Amino acid sequence: MKFVLATNNKGKLREIRELFADMGIEFITQREAGLETEAEENGSTFEENAMIKAKHACDALGLPAIADDSGICIDALDGGPGIYSARFGNLKVDALKNQYVLDLMKDTDLRGAHYVCAIVCLMPNGDMIETRGECWGEILREPRGEGGFGYDPIFLVPELGKSMAELTMEEKNAVSHRGRALREFKAKLNKYLEENKYADR
Ligand code: IMP
Repeated sequence: MKFVLATNNKGKLREIRELFADMGIEFITQREAGLETEAEENGSTFEENAMIKAKHACDALGLPAIADDSGICIDALDGGPGIYSARFGNLKVDALKNQYVLDLMKDTDLRGAHYVCAIVCLMPNGDMIETRGECWGEILREPRGEGGFGYDPIFLVPELGKSMAELTMEEKNAVSHRGRALREFKAKLNKYLEENKYADR
């Protein structure tokens, strides 16, 4: 069975492939499937953006397409950057974005934040599976750790006493927003396939 992942983000792709390694599903990115155009992410929620990306890939390729939209919501920034996490401060380099956040938050003790991940899988027949995962933590005062990607070095996972970037990929998958959303997605997909609504693919 072949699924298209409507992302070209290598960090996400690695995490998704790791979680689904036991499922006998082949994941290819939309670029590997020959789709060069990117969807325009003009939704106003994580769910809407995931749907836009999944539909773009599913319509163009005629294959089941999985898309995620994710980001970080920071209490002291009124829930921002949220769906704009990838472009926060018009910065592309993760280390610069992290420093930008730390600078914005240098005078506040309000450190709460959470990651969100919405996943949408769209089948060519129009069936849809949707899940959402969250991971709650705090913004550190300075970056810690080399793993993960994005905001991980400045995101503390309180129950582990470590930043997200100090976790192994296995540890991160166990607690992360994407891990939670993907595990729920995996269960729903298994159920869907068992119910045989999507035969012969
Ligand atoms: P998306 O590709 O539109 O979903 O944008 C997601 C952005 O949110 C990424 O570019 C990162 O900046 C941030 N983000 C999402 N998930 C994670 C994560 O697991 N760790 C760190 N940053 C993340």
